[in-house]
Amino acid sequence: MNFEKQQYITIKDVLSHARILISYNDARILLQNVLKINHAYIITHPEQDLTPIQIHTFQLLVKRRASGEPVSYILGECEFYSIKFKVTPSVLIPRPETELLVDLALEKISLGMSCEILDLGTGSGAIAITIAKHRALSNVTAADNSADAIAIAKTNSEYLSVNNVHFIKSDWFGELTRKKFDLIISNPPYIALNDPHLNQKDLRFEPELALVAGQDGMDCIQTIISSATSYLNAGGWLLLEHGYNQAKITKQLLKESGFINIFSRSDLAGISRVSGGRYDPPL
Ligand code: GLN
Repeated sequence: MNFEKQQYITIKDVLSHARILISYNDARILLQNVLKINHAYIITHPEQDLTPIQIHTFQLLVKRRASGEPVSYILGECEFYSIKFKVTPSVLIPRPETELLVDLALEKISLGMSCEILDLGTGSGAIAITIAKHRALSNVTAADNSADAIAIAKTNSEYLSVNNVHFIKSDWFGELTRKKFDLIISNPPYIALNDPHLNQKDLRFEPELALVAGQDGMDCIQTIISSATSYLNAGGWLLLEHGYNQAKITKQLLKESGFINIFSRSDLAGISRVSGGRYDPPL
């Protein structure tokens, strides 16, 4: 983008120039952030002039995006379940398909219920905080093995004024003080070590710790399922997000560990994305 010869540079001008390097949508979101305006303003004020500082700031952001850096890391925030969460490269960027995990958790806990909930591998805290916000009578424990992730998740809960969630640095169940929960949820790492997607798009910038789970991507799911029965009250639910081809094996593992009412649910793209079951302990 070179605007040196132009006297006035408008919203429309910078967007059409940025369009050469990045998508219109990304350019629009970055510009909204620089100008502190919303989408409607962009549409209704295409002829508004930018100051030289605004142009320079926008150009720097476009350059970062053009080099592949995810928009959420550039802006330091990401929307999930209509809530804005702070994110840094220490945590996975919450995905729209993970909203299904929250939907299912909210289905299992009705508004008036007071439940003990555990979120394993909480990252930014998006899942735990969203559930805590929608189920004020429940207590949510959110665990993560990364101290940086715990710090970000705590910041998010404070900034969103959510008081019924607490955070613990723990390798899965390792450091938990409470021993029994009514619902355990997780979006664990589930990508196979040699999956070529790891070298593509946003995944290149995200923490490997939050993405990769052994040769077939099943290591963490397997660990969680095999220990979950010791941490669930009778009749409690375990809900797990997984990869597009992992529903069958996840359901098989749930069955082998004594879960009943086992099911899988597809995300909006039609991909089987979450599987779960209810713990039915032997008499
Ligand atoms: N859903 C993410 C992706 O495939 C992966 C996140 C994860 O492993 N939990 O991009």
